[in-house]
Amino acid sequence: MEAIDTTAKPAAAFDKKPEIRLKARAVSRGVAIGKIVCLYGSNRQFYRVHIEYSEIERELRRLRAGITLAKRQLTHIVSSKHRPIPDSSPGIFDAHRMLLADSSMLSEIESEISEQKVNAEWAIKLVTDKYIAKYKAIPDEHLRDRYIDLEDVSERILTSLGGGGRLQIPLGDDSIIAARELKPSTLVELGEKTPRAVLTENGGWTSHSFILARELNLPAVTGLKNLLRRVKTGDDVIVDGYNGLIILNPEKETFRKYAIPAAQFKEVNFDNIEDSDKPAKTLDGHEIRILANSDVPSNYRRAKRLGAKGVGLYRSEFLFNQSRGFPSENEQIEAYRKIADLAGNDGVKIRTFDLGAEQLLDQNANREKNPALGLRAIRLGLTYKNQLKIQLRALLRASFQRHIDIVLPMISGLSEIREIKAILKKESDQLAARGKEVGNPLIGAMIEVPAAVLMIKELAEETDFFCLGTNDLVQYILAADRDNETVADWFRTLHPAVLRAIRSVLNTSRETGKRVIVCGEMAGSPYYIPILLGLGATELSMNAHSIPRVKRIISGIALEETHQLLLNIEPCRTVEEVENIVDLHFRKHWTHLFPADFLRGLRR
Ligand code: PEP
Ligand code: MG
Repeated sequence: MEAIDTTAKPAAAFDKKPEIRLKARAVSRGVAIGKIVCLYGSNRQFYRVHIEYSEIERELRRLRAGITLAKRQLTHIVSSKHRPIPDSSPGIFDAHRMLLADSSMLSEIESEISEQKVNAEWAIKLVTDKYIAKYKAIPDEHLRDRYIDLEDVSERILTSLGGGGRLQIPLGDDSIIAARELKPSTLVELGEKTPRAVLTENGGWTSHSFILARELNLPAVTGLKNLLRRVKTGDDVIVDGYNGLIILNPEKETFRKYAIPAAQFKEVNFDNIEDSDKPAKTLDGHEIRILANSDVPSNYRRAKRLGAKGVGLYRSEFLFNQSRGFPSENEQIEAYRKIADLAGNDGVKIRTFDLGAEQLLDQNANREKNPALGLRAIRLGLTYKNQLKIQLRALLRASFQRHIDIVLPMISGLSEIREIKAILKKESDQLAARGKEVGNPLIGAMIEVPAAVLMIKELAEETDFFCLGTNDLVQYILAADRDNETVADWFRTLHPAVLRAIRSVLNTSRETGKRVIVCGEMAGSPYYIPILLGLGATELSMNAHSIPRVKRIISGIALEETHQLLLNIEPCRTVEEVENIVDLHFRKHWTHLFPADFLRGLRR
């Protein structure tokens, strides 16, 4: 297969399109200039590829193999004895199998491949989009909803076409990804060749893809309505990730204006920051421990040079995304040892897989209405215990003579902790009986569900430490989907309810002596640092790139001042009041740390 979308030609002078500026929400800082590559699909993302005449036959074979695999998966799901199947499932899946056998639709897809000379993914998209539009136009509600089945089937074939292989996107040096939403696994799969920037229609500040984008230092903006309808692969674009702006088809003058900031941004080298490994101390001498959120050893190496003392959050599902499935016990042991060896005595907190049911492909059909409230994280582990046990064994073995602790995601009460501890004990005994060397990792809970905040005293008795996950905590306290751009205005980190919850966790930590590491995006955002310090946080875990900025803020304020700020905030009854007081305080006392243009866009 050759390069991307055939439409990727430089605009000739006579068909020069007008410059268009679109307002967006900035989610990762920086400026980039490049050419758009459109990505489609949700589970497995793809783009349009032009194929040669000689490749048509191979592409048709790929399509047929993908369909056969999809049919086999459906048969397996219906007959599976290993997982509960809702009563309605066989009917739904029979409908899906009928769609897969629909010869007219399949021959249309084949025709697109041969006549348009495009990849199978693109042909499926063209044909199913057409059918979906037809279904959506049907007045009868019951029939109209069949488009959902069609979407499911199309997604299943697209996933099968991948055959578990890696995404092959021939990105150029100046590619800028445009997608409706970007999956973290897609960014991971892009691997070595990262894009220059990311543009999406949807996604929140704390979406995993944007956390990754910040980690990779890629400018990113979101909230671009109908982006994929407005742009095509090859279009020129400027991305301003400071001000939340994209400029399509820029004029020469605009290119010139952005050329310098874009070049400067590319050259920023975070590894050369002076005094980087000095501890973070406030003006009045209080040390704040900085840790890294890091799943990739090379990132932790950089974080360490910048002063990180340990890995506060290792999101182990990164391994799942990387290997497109559950890694084996030995693969996990190797990965955990590697990061622990780098962290040395500072240690690493490894979180068990925080995956959702939708990420396990064979679960696809049980589409969850509220995935964030569904079978994810610890719940998924406790439902399908085999994978959980493999991971716990790997953690027990890797922690032998290494500073590895275990963090459990999405804990909502004591029972889950007790159940995990019982499994751990059993696995540990069995490993020892087989002559394997095992460690004795501490057990921590992610505090990210309101129930865990309300039960924090009891959880302190049953666990060794806490990781405060503010991303999910804000989402769950305010019932505002962190991945949904349309409710971004409800996702307000400084909401009094959120501040009360954080205060309660930090107070309990002080009373019980249990460590709390704040590891949500709030901990890596300069704007929130004075507030976290004022609330009593002493350990902050963040991505490597945030460390210099956060240390700069810490060393420029006195703890005493943050307490004063909190005294002013505490009586507030609305988020707007809190935000106004914080903004005023910053302008009055800390303009040297938060110049007006820096302040813009920092609060989410
Ligand atoms: C959080 O929820 O704040 C957190 C750190 O975990 P994640 O972003 O992976 O959900
Ligand atoms: Mg979380």
